[in-house]
Amino acid sequence: DGEDAADWLIGHKKGGRKHLDNLLAERLPSRLADAWCAAVGLPGGQPVADMPDKALRQLGESLNRWRLVPSGTEGYKKAEVTLGGVDTRALSSSTMMARDVDGLYFIGEVVDVTGWLGGYNFQWAWASAVAAGEAAAEAARGASA
Ligand SMILES: Cc1cc2nc3c(=O)[nH]c(=O)nc-3n(C[C@H](O)[C@H](O)[C@H](O)COP(=O)(O)OP(=O)(O)OC[C@H]3O[C@@H](n4cnc5c(N)ncnc54)[C@H](O)[C@@H]3O)c2cc1C
Repeated sequence: DGEDAADWLIGHKKGGRKHLDNLLAERLPSRLADAWCAAVGLPGGQPVADMPDKALRQLGESLNRWRLVPSGTEGYKKAEVTLGGVDTRALSSSTMMARDVDGLYFIGEVVDVTGWLGGYNFQWAWASAVAAGEAAAEAARGASA
C-alpha cells in the first residue's frame, strides 16, 4: 500500500510489547511471517521494542524489496488458457471474418485474445461466436436472396 515497512516496524517500538511475528502477521499470512523472521535471523517470538533499529530496518527493507519469482508452472494438466493465436489485425472485429479470405471466420481461443481467469475467456468465446454466427447467417441470406 506504499507504506515503508522499515518505518512501520520501527514505529511499533514505542507504546507496546508486541512480538515481531504477531506484528508481521497483521500484514502477512502468519506462516510467511514466521518464515520471514527465520530467513532474516530475527527471533519472531520476541518483542519488537527490544530489537535494534538496524535489524528492524534490514527486515523492513527486505519486505520493501520483496519480489515474487515463480518457481515453475504446473504444466498443461493445470493450464486454462492459451496465449497467442490468429492475429486480430487479420480479422474484422465486427464479424470475425478474415479480411483477406471471404467466408473464413475465427472465434474464441484460436484468436490471439486472452483474458484474465474468471470468465473473460468464456465471454470472449461466446461473444465472438455470436458476432461470427450472425455475420455468416447474414452473408448466407444475402447470397440466397
Ligand atoms: C481446465 C480449464 C478451466 C478453464 N476455466 C475457465 C474459466 O473459469 N473461465 C474462463 O473464462 N475460461 C476458462 N477456461 C478457458 C475457456 O474454457 C476457453 O477459453 C474457451 O472454452 C474457449 O472456447 P472455444 O470455443 O474457443 O474453444 P474450445 O472450448 O476449446 O472448443 C473447441 C472445440 O473444438 C473441438 N475440436 C478440436 N479439433 C477439432 C477437429 N479437428 N474437428 C472437430 N472438432 C474439433 C474440441 O473438441 C472442442 O470441443 C478454462 C480452460 C480450461 C482448460
